[in-house]
Amino acid sequence: MAEQELKDISIIGGGPTGLFAAFYAGMRGASARIIDALPALGGQLMALYPEKYIFDVAGFPKVLAKDLVRDMATQALQFGASTHLGEIVTGLRRVEDGNGGHFVLETSDGDYPSRTIIIAAGIGAFEARKLGIEGEDRYEEKGLFFKVLDPKQFEGQRVLLVGGGDSAFDWAVNLQGIAKSIMLIHRREGFRAHEATISQVRELHRCGQCELRTFWEVKALHGNGKVERVTIFNNKTKEEETLEIDAVIPLLGFHSDLGAIQQWGLDTEKADIKVDQVMSTNVRGIYAAGDITSYPGKLKLIATGAAEACIAVNNAVHLINPKAKVNPGHSSNMAIFGQKDD
Ligand SMILES: Cc1cc2nc3c(=O)[nH]c(=O)nc-3n(C[C@H](O)[C@H](O)[C@H](O)COP(=O)(O)OP(=O)(O)OC[C@H]3O[C@@H](n4cnc5c(N)ncnc54)[C@H](O)[C@@H]3O)c2cc1C
Repeated sequence: MAEQELKDISIIGGGPTGLFAAFYAGMRGASARIIDALPALGGQLMALYPEKYIFDVAGFPKVLAKDLVRDMATQALQFGASTHLGEIVTGLRRVEDGNGGHFVLETSDGDYPSRTIIIAAGIGAFEARKLGIEGEDRYEEKGLFFKVLDPKQFEGQRVLLVGGGDSAFDWAVNLQGIAKSIMLIHRREGFRAHEATISQVRELHRCGQCELRTFWEVKALHGNGKVERVTIFNNKTKEEETLEIDAVIPLLGFHSDLGAIQQWGLDTEKADIKVDQVMSTNVRGIYAAGDITSYPGKLKLIATGAAEACIAVNNAVHLINPKAKVNPGHSSNMAIFGQKDD
């Protein structure tokens, strides 16, 4: 395993919060790295809704999730933070170095020494909820998709969406004009999606552009090497139907798993890490920011995650070097951006 250099701040999670933390670390002159289990930066935005517009990020009347990630990554990595993608952080230890000690984060690919840590792990390393039917693993990415990264992938296909939340309803709308046919099934009558989108899908159903069925579930997938047909059943009447389908997209939410992080002696509340006003956990030198944090009044949003990242980094910088002020000053006056103090 490669010996990694000792950094000031190691950030677990390359979602929007982790990215903004990397930017702030660089602006404060601290060395930083991001480690993420996913193969790409962007957290939930890239994994779950890259093609959706976001309307509540300061400065953007509307922005596609994937475009926001692209620009956040450009901003984040401008000072040379390293990224280590496709690596799950599994362990943490403290080592003595004759200089007050430091942490070492352990992943499958290496050991990462660090003076401080910022946990921006969102909802944990997440995994989509499966259909729970026999043999489904065989069809994953072969006609069975747990997320839509590029809608064009479904061009001309007969698509079966499964679920009653925002993602299923959004894709029933957004795959219009791309997919050849769309059916949305949900196991219950009530939906959890936004009212406006539900109305839109009901209207599409009325016009014959999206079949919408409640109390239906997937019973079996069939096909030689890829999904070709799907058997669905009505959980009230027990009626069954086998349909010709090219792509099944279950959008049933996801399990989040804090995994190893839960074993680090951090105070938690449900699956979240408790932090104080400076985003410090109960372990000195370990901060948390973003969706993973819990404190009175917490809002799980991109905007709040960015503010928390800023607070966490500035306090980590001060902890590493007490002469460095917590308050970063104004970027508009900073020499690092070629600006003059006024
Ligand atoms: C469909 C949908 C729409 C949304 N729309 C909006 C919106 O309009 N506006 C808004 O403000 N918010 C929205 N959100 C919420 C927003 O996406 C989250 O608040 C935001 O992603 C939180 O960012 P984060 O960086 O804290 O966590 P995440 O985005 O969850 O990123 C955390 C990262 O940590 C990584 N990770 C976790 N555990 C480990 C580990 N052990 N080792 C390595 N890596 C690990 C994960 O792989 C992940 O990449 C939406 C969410 C969803 C699901």
